[in-house]
Amino acid sequence: MYEWIVEIMTGKVYLIGAGPGDPELLTLKAYRLLKMADVVLYDRLVGKDIIALIPETAEKMYVGKAKSMHSLPQEEINSLLAAKAKEGNMVVRLKGGDPFIFGRGGEELEELIEEEVPFEVVPGVTAAAGCAAYAGIPLTHRDYAQSVRFLTGHLKDGTTELPWEELVHPAQTLVIYMGLTGLKDISASLIRFGMKPSMPVAIVEKGTTSEQRVFTSTMEDIYDVATKNEAKSPALLIIGEVVTLQKKLEWYGKY
Ligand code: SAH
Repeated sequence: MYEWIVEIMTGKVYLIGAGPGDPELLTLKAYRLLKMADVVLYDRLVGKDIIALIPETAEKMYVGKAKSMHSLPQEEINSLLAAKAKEGNMVVRLKGGDPFIFGRGGEELEELIEEEVPFEVVPGVTAAAGCAAYAGIPLTHRDYAQSVRFLTGHLKDGTTELPWEELVHPAQTLVIYMGLTGLKDISASLIRFGMKPSMPVAIVEKGTTSEQRVFTSTMEDIYDVATKNEAKSPALLIIGEVVTLQKKLEWYGKY
């Protein structure tokens, strides 16, 4: 009986991927749930156009997530989610891109399980898919790449230690999230481990938004290009022969 009452009173948490920026890349499910939310906790990467879709009646909570400068520590976000749901709210936890790709979605759910708070997960368009599409770079292509690998350029301890040898594999596209800060090191390491210095590279900054910028260059020159253009976060690195298609397939903002 008591358990039954608790069940009725406890709300639910919806861990939702908001996509990389363009609000039209929200899924129908994400949109519908967002419109029903009592409380919305969102990150720095969720763009203002998507924030604007949050109902006025909902409590909006910015919980930040600037790299190594969280405005709320991860543990506090985790317990806040559980606490808000336990008050009986329908809580939306909105994250940039997809919650399970470099999004710490897993960590937040583990806490909810411990607290016995029910939840659902709604996938989102991850930055790799969104940026590649809006930049005109197919991540795979029968002539150039049979596999694609998503990596983070920023590890928990602040270093960039990647399995470099595996990354210079031919016919593979690399997509590096959070790779801008470590770009100099990343390109030097890849070249040192055998990647050709002329390997095409793209940086997609603020992909899928109206402020999107795309820079293409080679592995040996990309750092200078990024510096010269003052490339800023959020930015994604795409490395591989597929990047050569960008000039031909570029469409966003063009037609
Ligand atoms: N869960 C997110 C990734 C979070 S990690 C997802 O699935 O997309 C944050 C990193 O994602 C940023 O540092 C950047 O590398 C990348 N990113 C997110 N949105 C982006 C955007 N609109 N344009 C370019 N890169 C983006």
